[in-house]
Order: sequence, then C-alpha cells, then structure tokens
Amino acid sequence: MAVVISHSHADHWAGIRGVVDEKDVVSGKIKVIAPTGFMEHAVAENIYAGNAMNRRMFMQYGVLLPADPYGHVDQAIGKGVAAGTVGLLAPNVTITEHIQEMTIDGVKMIFQDTPDTEAPCEMNTYFPDMKAFWAAENITATIHNIYTLRGAMVRDALNWSKNINEALYLFGQEAEVMFASHSWPRWGNERVQEVMKDQRDTYAHLNNGVLHLVNQGVTINEIHNEYKVPKSLQNSWAARSYHGDIGNNSRGVVNRYLGHWDGNPANLIPLSPYESSALFVEMMGGAKPIITKGRELYNKGEYLHAIEILNKLAYGNPGNQEGKELLADCYEQMGYQQESTSLRNAFLAGAFELRNGIPAGASPKSSGPDLIKAMGTGLWLDFLGIRMVSEKAKDLEFSINLITPDNGEKYLIELSNSTLNNIEGFNDENADLTITINRTDLDLVMMGVKTLDKMIADGTAKTSGDVSIIEKLKSTLIHFDLRFEILPGTVPVGEQQLNRNPFQQDMPAVIGAE
Ligand SMILES: [Zn+2]
Repeated sequence: MAVVISHSHADHWAGIRGVVDEKDVVSGKIKVIAPTGFMEHAVAENIYAGNAMNRRMFMQYGVLLPADPYGHVDQAIGKGVAAGTVGLLAPNVTITEHIQEMTIDGVKMIFQDTPDTEAPCEMNTYFPDMKAFWAAENITATIHNIYTLRGAMVRDALNWSKNINEALYLFGQEAEVMFASHSWPRWGNERVQEVMKDQRDTYAHLNNGVLHLVNQGVTINEIHNEYKVPKSLQNSWAARSYHGDIGNNSRGVVNRYLGHWDGNPANLIPLSPYESSALFVEMMGGAKPIITKGRELYNKGEYLHAIEILNKLAYGNPGNQEGKELLADCYEQMGYQQESTSLRNAFLAGAFELRNGIPAGASPKSSGPDLIKAMGTGLWLDFLGIRMVSEKAKDLEFSINLITPDNGEKYLIELSNSTLNNIEGFNDENADLTITINRTDLDLVMMGVKTLDKMIADGTAKTSGDVSIIEKLKSTLIHFDLRFEILPGTVPVGEQQLNRNPFQQDMPAVIGAE
C-alpha cells in the first residue's frame, strides 16, 4: 500500500492521518511517496510572511463572508477548507530523479518531477497500464495563480508551461484519462491533449505576451489593462479564470522579472496612502464633492472610477462612514462582476470590512504538533528574527550556542545591530550562553506546551554562561496580531488575547484551495 503526495500545499497532505497510521509509515509497511524537498517546502513556504498571508486569506477566500449568493459561494478549485488539525507525516520514499518509475502492489507509476510550477515542489504521476495521467495541480479546469492574492512568491509561468509540454509528449500522446487533484477528469485522448495544449499555451502566452508588452514600455501599473489572452484561448473552458485572474497574473509576471518599480521617478518614494489621500481630499474640496461625484459614477456603473476617488476619501478621512459605505457598494458591484472567485471574494470582503470593521475576539490557531516537529530549528530561529522589535534590541549584543543533541544539530545565534542571526553547524567557544536541549523538548517550547524557563528549571535544558540573556531576548519579541487593518478605519476595538510564550511558533498559513 502507498500514499502518493503530489505537492507541498497543505490541502494535499494535511489529512494524511485520516488515511494511514503513523506506525505503518515509520515501519515502512505503507510507503508515503513525495517529491524531493517535500518536508522543507511543506512548512517553509508560509512561515516568514505567515501572519500577513493568513490575514490576506480573509480577502482571497472571503473567510468572514456569509455563505449565500451575495457572499461566499466558492473557492474556485475547492469548495471550502476542511476543519481540524493539520497533520503531516514525513515521507519514507522520496522521488529524486526527474523521471522515475516505481511499481507498488502491481501498479506501475511514472513520476515526473515538476519543481517551480504550481508549487515549489510538485510532481505529476502517470499510470501507464491504465493510460491514466494524474496532473497533480499543474492542470486543473481553470487557469491557476501565477500570483496568488493571499501572497506567495510569484510562480514561473514559462517553466510551468514547459512542464505541461513535457507531460504532453511523455504521457499525453497515449493517455485516455487525465485527472487532477482538483476538479473533474478529462476522458478520451483527443480531449486530454486539447486541455493539455490549452493549458500549456495559456501559461506560456501569459509569460511571453506580457514580456512582449513590457519590452515596449508597458509597466506593472498598466499591464492588466493591456495584456489580452488570445481569442482562441478565451473560448476554451479550461483556460478561463475561475481561480487565478489574468490581470493579477500579468502583473505577477512583470513583478517576477522587473519588480514593483515602473521606471517613473514619481513612484520611487511614493507617499503612503493616508498621507497622499489627505492632500487629495483637501485639493478636491473635501468629502462632500467626492461623495457627490462618487455617487454619480456609481449610478452610471463606473465603479472603478468611483473607487479611485472614494478610496482617497476613505484614507483622507477614515471617519467618514458615508464615504466608506459608498465605497463598499462599489466593491460589492465589482465583486459580483468577477469571474475569478479570488477577486470576487476580495472585493466582497473589502465591502464587509468597510461596513462592519474587523470582528473582535478572533483567536489565532495554534500550530499543530506535526508542523512544529517538521519545522527546522533554523526556520524557527529565522522567524524569531522577524518577530524581533528592532528598537527594543538596539542596545543588546550577545551570542548563544544552541545545541540539540538528539538530532545532532548545533546553531550559533548572534544579536548585533538589532538583527538576530543564526548559522547552522557552528558554535563559538566564547559565546555568552550555551543552551543544550533535545529538539523533541524544544518542540514543546515551540508548541507553547512548556516554557524554556521551566525546562531550564527542571533540568530538561542545560545552560552554561549568562542565563539572563534569555530574558533579554524574550523582551524583544512580539507575536503578530492576525487582525491588522487593511482598509482605513476598520481596526477592531479591544485587545486580542496574545498570551503565548515568547518562543512559541505561530500557525503557518496553510489553509486554502491552492
Ligand atoms: Zn490544491
């Protein structure tokens, strides 16, 4: 028996404990097969910017919207997200070759490693005896996200297309059925090839067509209004934008190659929205004429134009609820017009937050034990550096040896210039403090089950040197609040309960039908 994990996104592995017993995986009785780099990418993609990604999922997936025709109706390639604890088991078979064959219980499989496509770590699988091609999440019934609104590194559209092309010639010439990890199967070789070609061409055309315009001066601020998908692809159901939208995908391609700057010095040091908008509102004669003009544009259906000026009012005068209500009405109409569920959800979520603010009392999820165990010590230390408040660390300078004997790792941690560094494989004999703790015990600290202080007190962790450094380090760390403001004047009242221990690891962003 075996479980094949196609890629590193959580909606493709987090339920594994529901289908296999951990002891059967550890003993090797059941093979868990995954592509190279699976464990690292399963955890790493969503740590550093995790709180922002979780917050932005409120927008992309309309987390707060009621499930009804005017609210949340879909998440494109998944109807919703399963509740429950995220489970993760380490694979006991890793696919290391680009093309690799394996037979399990008489079922022959050919794996095609496709890194840097829909996920940093992903593979397709072909079952030659059944002429069945499993396209992982590389080919679904829609165009996917090159840029995903919740936030992720911009994906490589051309590489994605080339991997589909390779699959087309490795397997697509004889496949009689193609299925993916989302959406429905395609039957018959002619149909399989048609869908594969349309998907191949859409991603390649996105890359090439956008860069064709970029090389003639079209910028990241205009590309979504200029780039056009060829008519023949627009007429293909498999190439429609139910999930990723062409506009933001095209901006993603520009961002991947050129970054955010459009080449105009006016945009080199732009004012922040609150500052810029206050000036605009003053120059436009205050709230009244903006609302009058905004309503006129709204009534004519020119929602984007109305949004342009009402957004200025919202930032320039965040207390003006009438302006925000009208802006919300515009967002709502824009949401209803979108083909992409991500755009629809984002517009409707924006309207919701402008009208209601951000609900108070939402408590953050804590990390599941499997994710904490799978998270490298270096990654955890990196994130401590991200959680550090520079100002609080400005007068501190120290070095710590961290030794975890059970996994044979050691780290040198240094604080200097308000920056927390770590390097694996090194210790400094002159370090101010040495902490020796098994990684399995450190897991409990990261999970928030036990504090490091307690472990030192009861001897689970051993120290030598200046232990007061631990208090100093703790005093510089904060936990991020999930409910930060995105739209002006929507910040929730009341404090969020963040009584987690300073070394506890926050929940990585892992939900979503990605
Ligand atoms: Zn998925």
